[in-house]
Amino acid sequence: MLTDSYGRTIDYIRISVTDRCNYRCFYCMPEGGVKLIHRKELLSYEEIAEVIKQFAAKGVSKLRLTGGEPLIRSDIEKLIKMLSSIRGIKKIAMTTNGSLLENKAAKLKANGLNSVTVSLDTLNNEKFEKLTRMGIVSDVVCGIDEAIRIGLDLKLNTVLLRGINENELDELISFAFKRDITIRFIELMPADYDIGFYKKRFMPISYVSEFVKKRYDAKPSNYRSAGPASYVEINGHLIGFISAVSVGFCDNCNRIRLASNGKIYPCLGHMEEYSVDFKKALGKGESIDDLIKKLLEIKPKSHNLLNLSIKSSMSMIGG
Ligand code: SAM
Ligand code: SF4
Repeated sequence: MLTDSYGRTIDYIRISVTDRCNYRCFYCMPEGGVKLIHRKELLSYEEIAEVIKQFAAKGVSKLRLTGGEPLIRSDIEKLIKMLSSIRGIKKIAMTTNGSLLENKAAKLKANGLNSVTVSLDTLNNEKFEKLTRMGIVSDVVCGIDEAIRIGLDLKLNTVLLRGINENELDELISFAFKRDITIRFIELMPADYDIGFYKKRFMPISYVSEFVKKRYDAKPSNYRSAGPASYVEINGHLIGFISAVSVGFCDNCNRIRLASNGKIYPCLGHMEEYSVDFKKALGKGESIDDLIKKLLEIKPKSHNLLNLSIKSSMSMIGG
């Protein structure tokens, strides 16, 4: 079992399989995109599987593929197959913008993907196109419906955004309830390339939890996923709340992040100063045991996001 210097068990790795994306969401990247890593710096599927094998031998059992947009990396189902055959790996999930899910869902499931989280901040096509700078919301809805049809376990993630979707909570919740899926509301986190957006659009998660309490017959739920959400239950449906800024979740943090450049970041809110370069070590044929030890030693107690906003982009570190 892997335990960090604050006694937290680490059993969950988020893998950013690419820093590229077919959207440019305002809160995640600037309009021109981010500085992309060179293709030769990108971890190969074999390298990802090798790193995960070593962590799985030490107790990591849950993986989440993310990005950038994981579905734009070619043959991603091949990686899922490789990861699902690693001894000790019990659950493989993916976070996706859903735009390419309709055609890929069946193959992903057949290769061992257990669950998928689709990001959906609005159902209004005009707002969606503006927010993502290029997306078409019906593509995402078709992806969601196909994933449900073939029996993939599915959740929605919705970032709460002042002036964009705080007046759409009912529609988003009933969209989820009609499909019998869980929706989780997430507090906006500051990204350093556009602090102005954060200041203008941030709303505390209490806005939506209060709304839900007043509007529905909501009961607190003991349900816990692998992540930091807390839940309420309404007639058998779950609504989740994730707050990195106003409440925080670092005390129970169980995860580390493998970025597409081969560095592992032990915390979302701290970048280069705390990263460990696994690709370099693999390239030299070095043992990564010492790097794993170092990673556990340097994992910080908390993210400090308000003073150190997310450097670079969520798409690089794997949101
Ligand atoms: N492209 C995929 C997607 O959008 O689901 C996966 C990568 S994206 C970086 C992962 C998650 O991070 C998405 O749910 C997105 O809404 C969230 N995210 C990105 N930037 C964020 C920010 N500044 N604050 C809160 N959540 C953010
Ligand atoms: Fe792409 Fe996801 Fe970032 Fe949007 S949130 S730009 S879909 S990586």
